[in-house]
Amino acid sequence: MQALLLPQACAAELAALAQAAYPLEACALLVGVDAAVTRIVPAPNVAEQPARSFEIDPGAQIRLRRALREAGGPEYLLGHWHSHPDGRAAPSATDAAMIHEPALIWLISAVTTAGASAPAAFLPQADGKSFSPLALHID
Ligand SMILES: [Zn+2]
Repeated sequence: MQALLLPQACAAELAALAQAAYPLEACALLVGVDAAVTRIVPAPNVAEQPARSFEIDPGAQIRLRRALREAGGPEYLLGHWHSHPDGRAAPSATDAAMIHEPALIWLISAVTTAGASAPAAFLPQADGKSFSPLALHID
């Protein structure tokens, strides 16, 4: 994948989720077709310390994968998104330790009381311990 396309409406939805959850981290699953996000599926952050980390409710991910499989369409689980309250739109050391599925794209937004940044996209590296930036077009 050379670049990921994120529709403006989805970007606005992510910003709203980040602000609603502040000062906790918000998270969501990203459904897409090819290299384009088609919709956002908000998911509970079930981390023990949701102000400092995120953990997408595993049940939400299982249900979404099943629904996508049953739909039999072109949509698939493309990746996930989370917010960094008062942080940067880049993976943290905690994030790097949490790469469980190297095929999933990571989107991260920074959020403060003033609002949320545009998300940035990252792809886990083959070593499963680091990320490389992925071009993101918001349109
Ligand atoms: Zn993070």
